[in-house]
Amino acid sequence: MKRMRRCVCCRAYTLEKEHCGRETASPHPPKFTAEDPYAQYRRKGRWSGL
Ligand SMILES: [Zn+2]
Repeated sequence: MKRMRRCVCCRAYTLEKEHCGRETASPHPPKFTAEDPYAQYRRKGRWSGL
């Protein structure tokens, strides 16, 4: 599986590690983040009785 990268300078998608003379970054955020805005409500079960 190829890893698409994105130029932080011109926003172009590329497979190169560098673009516009700058290092490219992965455009895809991690699938599971620690910051789940609803996790605290699920843990408290606050919506279960509604
Ligand atoms: Zn670029």
